[in-house]
Amino acid sequence: MRDTFGREITYLRVSVTDRCNLRCKYCLPAVGADKKSHDDILRSEEIVEICRAAVELGIVKIRVTGGEPLVRKGIVELCANLAALDIDELCLTTNGILLEQFAEPLKLAGVDRVNVSLDTLDADKYRKLTRGGDLSAVLRGIDAAKRAGLTPVKINAVLIKGVNDTEIDRFYELDNVEPRFIELMPIGESKEHWRERYFTLDSNKHKVISPISRKFCGACNRLRLTADGKLKPCLHSRDEYNVRGLRVEELKAAILNAAAAKPQMHLLETGATNSQRGMNRIGG
Ligand code: SAM
Repeated sequence: MRDTFGREITYLRVSVTDRCNLRCKYCLPAVGADKKSHDDILRSEEIVEICRAAVELGIVKIRVTGGEPLVRKGIVELCANLAALDIDELCLTTNGILLEQFAEPLKLAGVDRVNVSLDTLDADKYRKLTRGGDLSAVLRGIDAAKRAGLTPVKINAVLIKGVNDTEIDRFYELDNVEPRFIELMPIGESKEHWRERYFTLDSNKHKVISPISRKFCGACNRLRLTADGKLKPCLHSRDEYNVRGLRVEELKAAILNAAAAKPQMHLLETGATNSQRGMNRIGG
């Protein structure tokens, strides 16, 4: 599956819910992020059928994300059904709050590895930034993931000036994890003030993921499936392709259309193509 710029599309990110058990200040409002009703959210069988069609078209890597994927009922069984597809890798991105109990079942279900989103190693700061999250639960979750063999465990920290930019070295004190530092994007609750929170980090010293200041769109191989059954050609574009309730041939045509519609690059920094969705409703 190639897009019109010759990029091969091999990676599907699947948001299995728009709900989250944290309310990170830069991502979600304290209350009232619109939650889809149960009927609007794809059933597990629908997710698997869409992924099966995508795999038949060339997807070889699937990442399960959200919202928070571990709050979805039946997540382990869903992962087992995705792992049974003909793919090279099944990964999951989580905030880690529920990972302690899920790590081993996820590994047994066929998940290869997890990324854990963790922005600070200061328990008070974590509670404030996430509006109530318990850092010790995340740290236990990371340990459980390592014990279960969901490795390498990658830690994704969104760096924000004045919030956690002085903590970078602390992430290297965590045993056997790979810290990666993510640039804040103008999306969700960060749409307005993102520029003020910027600073420079040496990418020779650290693994930095910088979708705005150093776009990697030229190497983008992704499509994103939202929890309500839309394919997004690009994280930042408004375009969405419905893939719910379609017969298999229509479904494949919709997937090919979404791939073909991938823009050459996002223009998020200009505000020109802002997605209407926050990260919880796209699947970060
Ligand atoms: N709940 C899961 C988690 O915490 O990893 C998956 C969904 S969460 C929306 C995915 C990632 O998006 C998290 O690492 C979060 O920090 C990141 N994120 C949310 N808003 C962001 C923003 N404005 N800029 C950069 N990353 C953002």
